[in-house]
Amino acid sequence: MSKELYLGIDIGGTKIKMAVVTSKGSIKEEMVSDTDINAKPLNIVKSVIKTVSKFKNYSKIKNIGVEIAGDVSYDTGIVRFSPNLHKWKKVPLKEMFEKITGKKTYIGNDANTASMGAFWLDTKEKASNLICITLGTGLGGGLIFNKKLYRGASGTAGEIGHISIDPYGQKCKCGNNGCIETFIGAKYLSKHAIEYLKESKSSVIDELTGKNHSLITPQLLFEAAVAGDEVAKDIWKIMGEKLGIFLSNIINFANPDTIVICGGIIQAGKYFMGAASNEIKKRAFELATKSCKILISKYTHKLGVVGAAMLLKR
Ligand SMILES: [Zn+2]
Repeated sequence: MSKELYLGIDIGGTKIKMAVVTSKGSIKEEMVSDTDINAKPLNIVKSVIKTVSKFKNYSKIKNIGVEIAGDVSYDTGIVRFSPNLHKWKKVPLKEMFEKITGKKTYIGNDANTASMGAFWLDTKEKASNLICITLGTGLGGGLIFNKKLYRGASGTAGEIGHISIDPYGQKCKCGNNGCIETFIGAKYLSKHAIEYLKESKSSVIDELTGKNHSLITPQLLFEAAVAGDEVAKDIWKIMGEKLGIFLSNIINFANPDTIVICGGIIQAGKYFMGAASNEIKKRAFELATKSCKILISKYTHKLGVVGAAMLLKR
């Protein structure tokens, strides 16, 4: 067994996660620090390198992988734009890391690394064709075909949150109408819940929000469902139906052996996955459905940092 070690760094809008990872994707050492979003990118890079150099195994590490959300050029390692870090424009991130550390560095966006992380952690590299779906503020996707990251002709493959399920639906920020993200992305989910509550009364949600429904978040809807609130459960069921329609499209399109669902909303999985499965049974091809395992990630907070470390195996 190879004793190679890789370093993964996940630069998020609030936290920076760093980990030494084995060639099988398991974490040997890890650290977390806060992100100073006002600092210059080079200063963030220098401070990250100072931190990771304290890892016991740092000197043994040959390769570094860095994840950052946004528009990232995989080949040049330039971060063109990051939605969480407003100072990051055209940052030559790969070059910065390589110059200071002398270690070969790979850069990937959050969708790429989440799918790599899911492949290594959730499927233990067993999946061949895997689609990773991140349910968070938006809806992101990462694709692994034949055990390799698939990026498409221009690096935008996996923008599955913008698959439309309603041509007359709400306008999405991407310019399309009725994208799946406009139904089940966290922000939209809360908006749909507010609309739903105009017709259906929930004393539990009224109590949790002090009757101010603008305070509704997926977390609050989850808590209401846990408290047994039927209206909250219905809202999750409707969300599950939309998710199921979307997953049916994905299953028919790509015939994956594995779909991994990760992200902030998955804690409410038991309230929406049943409805999603029912839709898939009704809509997707039977053999394709039978051949596809749908997993809720057990490692959602580690996918980025481990996936980043594994970018060299893309
Ligand atoms: Zn869209």
